[in-house]
Amino acid sequence: MTGEPQVTELLIDGKHVPAADGRFFTVLDPSDGTAIAQVALAGKADVDQAVAAARAAFASPEWARMRAADRGRILYRIAEAIRYQGERLARLESQDVGKPLSQAKADVEAAARYFEFYAGAADKLGGTTIPLGPGLIDYTVREPIGVSGQIIPFNYPLQNTARGSAPALAAGCTVVLKPSPEAPLTPLEIGRIALECGLPPGVLNVVPGDGETGAALAGHPDINQVTFTGSVPTGIKVAQAAAANVVPSVTELGGKSPVVVFADADFDLALAAVAASAFGNAGQTCSAGTRLLLQRGAEEFLDKLVSHAASLRVGPGLTDPDVGPLVAARQRDRVLSYLDVARQEGGTVRVGGAPSDPALADGYYVEPTVLTGLTNDARCAREEIFGPVVTVIEFDDADEALDIANDSPYGLASYVWTRDIDKAMRLAEGIRAGQVYVNATGVGTGVELPFGGYKHSGWGREKGLEGLGSYLQTKNVCIGFGNRS
Ligand code: NAD
Repeated sequence: MTGEPQVTELLIDGKHVPAADGRFFTVLDPSDGTAIAQVALAGKADVDQAVAAARAAFASPEWARMRAADRGRILYRIAEAIRYQGERLARLESQDVGKPLSQAKADVEAAARYFEFYAGAADKLGGTTIPLGPGLIDYTVREPIGVSGQIIPFNYPLQNTARGSAPALAAGCTVVLKPSPEAPLTPLEIGRIALECGLPPGVLNVVPGDGETGAALAGHPDINQVTFTGSVPTGIKVAQAAAANVVPSVTELGGKSPVVVFADADFDLALAAVAASAFGNAGQTCSAGTRLLLQRGAEEFLDKLVSHAASLRVGPGLTDPDVGPLVAARQRDRVLSYLDVARQEGGTVRVGGAPSDPALADGYYVEPTVLTGLTNDARCAREEIFGPVVTVIEFDDADEALDIANDSPYGLASYVWTRDIDKAMRLAEGIRAGQVYVNATGVGTGVELPFGGYKHSGWGREKGLEGLGSYLQTKNVCIGFGNRS
């Protein structure tokens, strides 16, 4: 996009409409702070309208009586349309969030995969029969739960839109999606594409807005389920607001995921994976491996990581660097303040920090950063920084590595690098996190793999077939017939 910022409206009941009170917000390009879009800011009245449209669509024969196979066909078409428009979507995502173009292209593919994966599941959501004896037949039916309110963060708008809406639609639900004010552009595009692919009006509504918009959706009495992805403090508020209406929620929250590198690991394989996990998307990934637990004796790995970090090219997302800017000035400032905390706590910034290149001065950049000299008690080892920063902590043996890995309020993902099967299995068995990768990371797009948190990383699971469970409820039907004596 160049020139005048584009103007973008809400998507409610299949129509693009302004906010009821006419408000807009400005979306900035994080690579230089220029305005790229004016987006309608949904208020409570707009959320009410979107929920009413989703309720009506849920009951409409057009959607409620559509055969599951036909729902699946629409989802397949959406997947194909996302791929067909992939180049444009990737550029939009890259400019909106700041992520390198090749990472945005991978996100496009992941978004398409979510629609494809759940398209195939739509007509396989059968129930069971339960044997009760003569004269009785008992069976279960899995019914769509209703209107799903979905609130997503700024870091993977394309992926998060697809990850929540595709299983909900496959299950026969309808959706009101609230994107982040920092990255609303591609969720609106997915809404438009879905309409073009034959999704009936009102089935997927997109209402960008701020925390007030999100609160109006989470606490809305006419929704039936909430899927929230974001930070722990907001997740708690959202879960409480939903619970006040006895509405269930899935909360996908933050992480401080350990990467355990033993001295016997394949350092070359591990290095590429550790760097991609910590510095990809400028470290703004919930499952990023941000605590590097390094076995004493593996200092060579640290040296390799430091020189690798120093060699990464930082620049605007559209130039496809290794590392783009953070999404906003507030996010950059937050990350830099953590580097000050690390120094105050006796840590060393081995590489990274704010870029010295004047060409990057207007953007929200932080260079890939490696912190050493800290223990697992340091704030940079306990709190989610959400930037391209990895904190190195040393350990002696597998037992100590496991203790440190689990000594965290979070439990989202974890990664283990070793050639020793016993150590690998000891960690895989003992780590309290929703995902454990051994000598692997980010396999494909992870669409097929159940994903979610232990501890403060949240509850419920998205992705994989398990992700469908949030959008279905089970009805048991018991029928007596004939002579049961
Ligand atoms: P955030 O919690 O600030 O915002 C998330 C969303 O909630 C946004 O759309 C925001 O507008 C909305 N919101 C804010 N206040 C609200 C309220 N009171 N009620 C309802 N909605 C409200 O998070 P963020 O800064 O956008 O994203 C970063 C966080 O997201 C990190 O903690 C990261 O780990 C987490 N995250 C988790 C996952 C996961 O799958 N576990 C994935 C991506 C990001």
